[in-house]
Amino acid sequence: MHESAIKVAYIGASILFIMALGGLSHQESARRGNVFGMVGMTIAIIATILGREVTGYVPIIVAMVIGGAIGIAVASRVAMTSMPQLVAILHSFVGLAAVLVGFASYLNPENHLVGAERMVHESEIYIGVFIGAVTLTGSIIAWGKLQGVITSKPLYPPMRHWVNAGLVVIALWLGTMFVGANTVTAGIIPLGIMTAIALLLGVHMVMAIGGADMPVVVSMLNSYSGWAAAATGFMLANDLLIVTGALVGSSGAILSYIMCRAMNRSFISVISGGFGVAEGTSSARSHEGETIVETSVDETAEWLADASSVIIVPGYGMAVAQAQYPINEITTQLRNRGVEVRFAIHPVAGRLPGHMNVLLAEAKVPYDIVLEMDEINEDFPQTDVVLVIGANDIVNPDAEEDPGSPIAGMPVLQVWKARTVVVMKRSMATGYAGVENPLFFKENTRMLFGDAKASVDGILARLMKAA
Ligand code: NDP
Repeated sequence: MHESAIKVAYIGASILFIMALGGLSHQESARRGNVFGMVGMTIAIIATILGREVTGYVPIIVAMVIGGAIGIAVASRVAMTSMPQLVAILHSFVGLAAVLVGFASYLNPENHLVGAERMVHESEIYIGVFIGAVTLTGSIIAWGKLQGVITSKPLYPPMRHWVNAGLVVIALWLGTMFVGANTVTAGIIPLGIMTAIALLLGVHMVMAIGGADMPVVVSMLNSYSGWAAAATGFMLANDLLIVTGALVGSSGAILSYIMCRAMNRSFISVISGGFGVAEGTSSARSHEGETIVETSVDETAEWLADASSVIIVPGYGMAVAQAQYPINEITTQLRNRGVEVRFAIHPVAGRLPGHMNVLLAEAKVPYDIVLEMDEINEDFPQTDVVLVIGANDIVNPDAEEDPGSPIAGMPVLQVWKARTVVVMKRSMATGYAGVENPLFFKENTRMLFGDAKASVDGILARLMKAA
C-alpha cells in the first residue's frame, strides 16, 4: 500500500476513534459509537498490515487468529459484574506491549540514528518502557484485587512513600546513564534495571490502594496504558498510535477525575491509598439497640400501586440478581396506571462506570426516565416510594452525616428523604466499601430481604394480578 494511502487510512481511523468516544458519551448513541470504533480499528489494522515495514503476513495472521479467538471466547463469557477485572487485565497487555516494543526498538540493528535524533528516540523508549512496566504490574495487581485473588485491603509497607520516591529517583538517574550510553550493550543494563524498578513500582503503588478505590485505579491504569501506547507510537513513528494513545490517555484521566469527584476523593489521596476494607465486614459504628423493620412483597406491591411518584435506585445487587428485566415490566405496569416512575443513577453504582445504564438499556427501560444523581437528588422529598434494589454504599446517609465515616463526603442519593424507602437485599451485609448503612435503621425504611430477582418477580406478579 502506498505511503500516502496509509496516511489517509490513519487519518480516517483517527476521526472514527474520536467519533466513537463522542458516541459513547450518550446512551442513545453508544451503539453507534461502538460501531465507529470497530470500523476505525479494522481500517487501522488493515492499513498497518499492508504497510511497507510488514514483510511476512503468515505470523501476523496466525497471531491475529489465535488472539482474536481468545478475545471472543473471553468477552462472550465474562459476566457484566466481572468487567472491571477484564478491563484491568487487558490494560496489562498494553503495558507489556509497550515494554516489548521498547526493547525491540532499542535492539533493532537497523536503527542508525545519531545525535539529537538518537537522544529523542532513546528518551521515547525509556519513558515508554517505564510507563508500560508500571501499567503491566499495576494492572495485574488491580485484577487480583478485583477478582478477590489478592486482599482488597490496602497494604502499607513501612516508609512506602519514601520507597516510591526513591525508586523514581533511581529510575531518573538510570535514564541519564541510558541516554548517555555509547553502545547498545552499555545501554541495555540501565534499561533492564529501570524495567525491574518500574515493575516493582506498579506492584507497590497498587497494593497500597484499598478495594473501594479500585474503580478509580482501573481508570487511571487505563489512562497510563494510553500514554504507554502513545509513547510506543513515538518509538515506531506511527501517527495513528500516537493519536489513539493520547485519546485513551486523556479520556482515562478525565474519567478518573469524574469518578474521584463522585466519590469525593482527591486523586492524590487515591494514589496514596488507604480507603476501603474487605467486602462483607462492618465498620466501627454500632447499631445496637436500633431495630430494622421488615416488609413483604405484598405490602411493597400495594405501596407501589398506591403511590403517585416512585424512584427506583439500582445498585450492584440488581446486576448480580439480573433483576433489570422484571423491573422494566414493573415500570410499565405502574406507568400504565398513571404512576410517575423514574430511575436514579449514582455515578459509581455497580462495579463499572455506566454499569446501571447498560443494564437498564439492555432491559429496554426508556432513556428519558433514567436520571443522573444531580438531576434527581432534590426530588426525593416529594417522592412517595423509593425502591432501592441491591444498592448500599451509594445510598448511605453516613457519607453526609458522619464525618468519621470512611465514605464521608461522597455524594450519595438522598433516598431517606422520601416518604417510604424499601431496601431489597439478601442480608444486613455491607457493600463494596465495607461500611455499615444507617439507612436500614431509619423510621421510614422497610427491609425486603431476599434475592432481588425473586422479590421483583413477586412484586410484578402481585401487580399483574391486581391489574
Ligand atoms: P454496594 O456494593 O455498596 O452494595 C451492593 C449490595 O447489593 C450489597 O450490600 C448486597 O447485600 C446486595 N446484593 C448483592 N447481591 C444481591 C442479590 N442477588 N439480591 C439482592 N441484593 C444483593 O453497591 P452500590 O451499587 O450501592 O455501590 C457501588 C460500590 O462499588 C461503591 O462503593 C463503589 O465505589 C464501588 N465500585 C464502583 C465501581 C464503578 O465503577 N461503578 C467499580 C468498583 C467498585 P446482600 O449481600 O445483603 O444481598
